[in-house]
Amino acid sequence: MALVTTKEMFKKAYEGGYAIGAFNTDSLDIIPAVVAGAASVNAPVIIAVSESAARAVGPGYVVSTLQAAAKTTDIPIALHLDHARSPEFCKECADLGFTSVMIDGSFLDFEKNIEISKDVADYVHTRGVVVESELGAITGVEDDIVVDEKYGAFTRPQDVVEFVSRTGIDSLAIAIGTAHGAYKFKPGENPQLRFDILEEIQEKLPGFPLVLHGASSVPKDRLDIFNKYGGQLPEAIGIPGEMLRKAASMAVCKVNVGTDIRVCWLGEFRRQLAEQPSKYEVVKVTDAARKAVAEMVAARITNVLGCNGKA
Ligand SMILES: [Zn+2]
Repeated sequence: MALVTTKEMFKKAYEGGYAIGAFNTDSLDIIPAVVAGAASVNAPVIIAVSESAARAVGPGYVVSTLQAAAKTTDIPIALHLDHARSPEFCKECADLGFTSVMIDGSFLDFEKNIEISKDVADYVHTRGVVVESELGAITGVEDDIVVDEKYGAFTRPQDVVEFVSRTGIDSLAIAIGTAHGAYKFKPGENPQLRFDILEEIQEKLPGFPLVLHGASSVPKDRLDIFNKYGGQLPEAIGIPGEMLRKAASMAVCKVNVGTDIRVCWLGEFRRQLAEQPSKYEVVKVTDAARKAVAEMVAARITNVLGCNGKA
């Protein structure tokens, strides 16, 4: 199957009360793992590549790999550029074959955010590509984007109608208490999502797909493997699955999972290298990491997002 946009996926997800997983792939090797995981549970899937990862790998390589992956399966696959701050890079990726781009102007003031979001939307729509923008700040660390927790702010429901209508975007990332990075919440803290804000936004934008970023669950078993073999990530807890399920039953159609993929992939690398110190066949390490990521993706889709069987 050819790569698709998220339009049809989101429409079905909204009506069906589930969400599609957008899994961050920082290296080309991770792409077949995520696709295999989603295919094993017959789920549509979004491959997300951050601006810095796409620049590091080369966006053309990403597109070619995804096109090859799409030929191996019948599940719908969208290729999404995550957190791009450069409108030019969004346009370049749309021209190359990405089917969805996120222009992140959340660090700008409201008018400037509208301006760059509309600029990207106007351009990529003529190529049949969809656009996501962000309103409000999601705290934590993603990539090289650092949002000071002190300035983190929830999305203001009174802004969303004007923002969506003036920009022409296709989906909106909102800030309701999720956080980027591996350190989301300390053990003992009680993560809370502001479902009251989500509900207000949903009422103001009926039928419009919303996106949750920073929604990894940071599973303890994977964090333990990462740390047992030399990693040094602090104990942390992510967003509980039941909260994500509730958001997915509402207007949230896309849930971004980045940290979990990174911790799973590199944790498995660490274990393989530590347990087989004399082995130097790269494929032995990458095979194990691919298998671990595929299993995690399938579990997340089935246990949390609910889009299994929806391909
Ligand atoms: Zn994000």
